Amino acid sequence: MSAGLFAQIVGRGLRKHESKADCLVLDFGGNIRRHGPIDSDDYGTEVKLPGEGSAPKKNCPNCESAVAISAQICEDCGFKFPPAEPADKHDSNADENSTLIGQAEPEQWVVVGCSWTKWTKRKEPDKPPTLRVMYDCQPADAEGNLSNEDISEWVCFEHDGYARKKAQAWWDAHSIADCPDTVDAAIKLLDRGCCRMPIGLITKSDGKWRSIVKQAFADQCPLEYDWLAEKQKTEDEDYEYTFDDDEVPF
Ligand SMILES: [Zn+2]
Repeated sequence: MSAGLFAQIVGRGLRKHESKADCLVLDFGGNIRRHGPIDSDDYGTEVKLPGEGSAPKKNCPNCESAVAISAQICEDCGFKFPPAEPADKHDSNADENSTLIGQAEPEQWVVVGCSWTKWTKRKEPDKPPTLRVMYDCQPADAEGNLSNEDISEWVCFEHDGYARKKAQAWWDAHSIADCPDTVDAAIKLLDRGCCRMPIGLITKSDGKWRSIVKQAFADQCPLEYDWLAEKQKTEDEDYEYTFDDDEVPF
């Protein structure tokens, strides 16, 4: 079913009315899996299920390139796809994809480390490289580091269109320097500390992949990040130096 028609059908059910609180969508056709949640930014960027149409393709959620359905890694930007879900006829159980991304449970992460690297397509080194930024994360509610996870994002400074616009927005959120045109220039600036890095992440998963929906920085600690306040307190203590009067040379 086309994305437009499916949105229309689901939209019918989502229309507000004082007599109803919920709307149950029985999607036996895999439409949500194919088109995504209808309130998602990526809704309708067609992800063909195996066996559908010709030359099945899926769209990279990071740079929007169309790649082979079986690809585990986006050839354009390096995005790693999570393991594919089995394509089958009618499941006996509901799948985990939310009908609306707004319904997906947000996950909160404390960032304990950041690193970055240049990603180049090995087989076609002439294609533009991307910057992979890796956040070493602890679930906000976990003790110890047993459950650390690496959460990555790929920033496409050297791509055109949507991907470049996204890179520009990423840069502006992280640095007051001008947005670099190359990954090498970005890495130079990152290495020199020209970028602030988040102390917390909020991610959402639509069942297909986990995407970063918010980054929390140390210099903006609104109330909604109270789960980070504890972490900030300990950091402040770590970095607080006290001097005796006779240590100060003036
Ligand atoms: Zn990509």
